[in-house]
Amino acid sequence: MEKKLFSPEELSLLNTVISRSEEMTADFYKMSDSDWKKIKYDFKTEKDLKSHEIAEKAFAQVVKYDARPWGSPFNSSLYTIYRICIQDSTILDRIEKYDFLTEPFLFYIIIHELVHVVRFSKYIKKFEADEEEMYAEEKIVHEITRNIMEKNAIQGRSEVFDFFKNHLSF
Ligand SMILES: [Zn+2]
Repeated sequence: MEKKLFSPEELSLLNTVISRSEEMTADFYKMSDSDWKKIKYDFKTEKDLKSHEIAEKAFAQVVKYDARPWGSPFNSSLYTIYRICIQDSTILDRIEKYDFLTEPFLFYIIIHELVHVVRFSKYIKKFEADEEEMYAEEKIVHEITRNIMEKNAIQGRSEVFDFFKNHLSF
């Protein structure tokens, strides 16, 4: 079966959601613009994902890369970049099944992943973790995501909160 990917309209909504989520998350952590810009991350949607970046059952996942500036041969210039891999087809499937509004669902997913990235980049949380640690981290990240969304008027968020209470892992 052909996988469903975001339409141009959905991609444009996602773009807005990402910008606002970045502001809201930076605000929550009281990070200045320049602090925020020090975190190296990017977003990719499913059409641009490599096979190891696809996580069939997840809505998104963070993949960590060691990168080197183009042309630099030295390991001392290595830096870490986090790629937030958005799984369009799983998201669209769930929106259709549960009849969620697209916007609050995307907000939840994007803020959630940004909180992971902030916590990795601030070394609050190691990227490598065992299952028990991962579960504990997920619970914390879900809680922070709700806190951030509570502070901002996002229509349709309570239905999304209810859903994620029962679907903790992603
Ligand atoms: Zn997570």
